[in-house]
Amino acid sequence: MIKIQNLSKKYGKIQVLNTINLELERGKIYGIVGENGSGKTTLFRCIAGMEKYNGKIDTIQNMKDYLGFLETESYFFSKITGREYIQLLCNAREKELVNIEEKNIFDLPLDKYATAYSTGMKKKLALTAILLQGNSVFILDEPFNGVDIQSNIIITELIHKLKELGKLVIISSHIFSTLADTCDEIHLLENGSFVKKVFKEREFDLSNAVIWQHIRYFN
Ligand code: ADP
Repeated sequence: MIKIQNLSKKYGKIQVLNTINLELERGKIYGIVGENGSGKTTLFRCIAGMEKYNGKIDTIQNMKDYLGFLETESYFFSKITGREYIQLLCNAREKELVNIEEKNIFDLPLDKYATAYSTGMKKKLALTAILLQGNSVFILDEPFNGVDIQSNIIITELIHKLKELGKLVIISSHIFSTLADTCDEIHLLENGSFVKKVFKEREFDLSNAVIWQHIRYFN
C-alpha cells in the first residue's frame, strides 16, 4: 500500500535519511525505533508529504485524504475547544460526527480550550480526532510519550483494534520494549539508515543476542 524506494533526505548539508527502502501493507503494525535524532520524525514527514526528498514514495491514493498523523506535538489554534478541534478535523474529511460524548474515549474536557490542555491531554485529543476521521493509515510519532499509564493501555488496545480493522499503522519510539507488544515488524533506524528489521513471530524474544546488539541503546 505504501512503497518507499531509495528515500534520502538532507537538511542543508546534513544527511538525515539515507537510502530508506520499506514496503508497508494494510492490516499491519510497523514500529520504527531509534535514538533521538535518528530520523524517525523526518521519515514520517516525508511519508506524509510534508517534506521534499529524493527517492520515491508510492501510495495508492492521495495520502492526505486518508492519513492520520499524530505528531509529537500537535498544533492547536488559540481559541478552539477540544470539541471544536475534533469537529474541524472531521469536517475536513466530510465525516459526520454524532454523539461525540460517547466517542470521548479519554474522557477529555471537550469544552475547554485545547491550548489549556496538558501535554498528555493534547496528544489524546489529537489522537481522538484522527481516529474519528476514519483514516485508513495512521502514523503515530511517539504516541506513548507523556501520557499516563491508563492512557498507554487504552492506546495499545486502540492500535490492536486498528489492526483488526485492516488499517495500516506506523509507530515510532525511542524505546524498543514499548513497540514489542504491538508491532508485527520493527525497523531499527540508526543515523538515517535502517540497520535491522525484526519480525514478531520469529525474533521478538528479547533474549535474542543479535537484537540486543542493536537495541542496547533503547532500553
Ligand atoms: P527523531 O524523530 O528520530 O528524533 P528527527 O527526524 O526529528 O529525529 O531528526 C533527525 C535529524 O534531523 C536531527 O539531527 C535533527 O536535528 C535534524 N532536523 C530535523 N528537522 C530539521 C529541520 N527542519 N532543519 C534542520 N535539521 C533538522
